[in-house]
Amino acid sequence: MSRVKNEVGGCEKCPATIRWIQMLKKDGKLGAVAPLDFLPSAKGNITIEDHPQHGRIGRVLTGDDLAKAHALAMPLHINHFATCPKAEHFRR
Ligand SMILES: [Zn+2]
Repeated sequence: MSRVKNEVGGCEKCPATIRWIQMLKKDGKLGAVAPLDFLPSAKGNITIEDHPQHGRIGRVLTGDDLAKAHALAMPLHINHFATCPKAEHFRR
């Protein structure tokens, strides 16, 4: 499976549409490219933003940031690891 960031594709193991997003870690460094569910989720905790240096990145929100995002009804995405019925496929 290609893991090109920003690429929209299908999960190999279930019918879900996912998008590969470059994650930004809390320390400001780039993390892994993660498969996010294409559509926002009420259970989501990842905001997709345009970063001045890195372009489109995903950032995990926690605590107050997450509460604020929910209060503002921001579209939040969820890692497909969390929703895929075949999630064991992703674990190594
Ligand atoms: Zn899946």
